[in-house]
Amino acid sequence: IIVAENVHKHFGSFHALRGVNMSVQPGEVVVIIGPSGSGKSTFIRTINRLEEHSQGTIIVDGIELKDGQNLDAIRREVGMVFQSFNLFPHLTVLENVSLAPTRVRKVPKAQAQQRGMELLARVGIEEQAHKYPAQLSGGQQQRVAIARALAMDPKVMLFDEPTSALDPEMIKEVLDVMKGLAESGMTMLVVTHEMGFAREVADRLVFFDEGNIVEDTTPDEFYNNPQHERAKQFLGKIL
Ligand code: ATP
Ligand code: MG
Repeated sequence: IIVAENVHKHFGSFHALRGVNMSVQPGEVVVIIGPSGSGKSTFIRTINRLEEHSQGTIIVDGIELKDGQNLDAIRREVGMVFQSFNLFPHLTVLENVSLAPTRVRKVPKAQAQQRGMELLARVGIEEQAHKYPAQLSGGQQQRVAIARALAMDPKVMLFDEPTSALDPEMIKEVLDVMKGLAESGMTMLVVTHEMGFAREVADRLVFFDEGNIVEDTTPDEFYNNPQHERAKQFLGKIL
C-alpha cells in the first residue's frame, strides 16, 4: 500500500534522506527506529506530504505523490499522530474528532458526532467527549488525537514518537490503543523506541541511520542479531 523508491530529501544543502527504499503491505505494522537526526520523522512526513521529497518515487494506495498534486486525496488516506498531540485547544474533544469529517468529507454533523462518539469509545475516553483538551491528561489527549485521525477512515496511520511526551503511566494506555488498532488490521508506520511494543506488535522493524535504511528485518532478528555496527551501538543505548 506504500511504495517508496530511492527517496531523497534535501533541506538546502543538507541531505536528510539518501535514497530510501521501503514498501509496506496492507495490514502490516512497521516500526522505525534509529538515532536522532537519522531522518525518521522526515521520511514519514513525506508519506502524507508534510514534506515534499526532492527525488525518487512515493506511491500510497496507487496515488503517486508528485509536486502539489493529490494533496487532498493523500491527506484523506493517511492519518498522522505526532509526539505533541496538536489538538485544537478551543474545541471540545468531540468537536476535535468530528471536525475534519464534516469539513473535508462533508459528512452531516450529527452523523460525524455519532461516529466521533464511537471512536472515542474505541480509544476508551467517551466520558471525556465534552471536555476541552487542556482538561485531559497527556495520555487521554493522545488517544483523542488517534480518534481524530481515525475519523477520516484512513488506509494508513503514521505515528511519530506518539508516547515520547508522556509520563510512564500513560504510555501503556496509548500503546494499548495502538495495539488494538494493529489487531484490527490497520496498516501502520510507527516511529518509536518502545521496544516492548515493537516486539509484540511489529511485523517488521527498520533501522534508519544517516538518511537511509540500513536494516529491514523482524524485531526479534534485529534484537538478537543486529547486522550493522551502528545498530548494535544504538541497541546498547536504548535497552
Ligand atoms: P529524532 O529522533 O530526533 O526525532 P529524526 O530521525 O526524526 O530524529 P529528522 O527530524 O527526520 O530526524 O531530521 C533529519 C535531519 O534533517 C536532521 O539533521 C534535521 O536537523 C534535519 N531537518 C529536519 N527538518 C528540517 C527542516 N525543516 N529544515 C532543515 N533541516 C531539517
Ligand atoms: Mg523525529
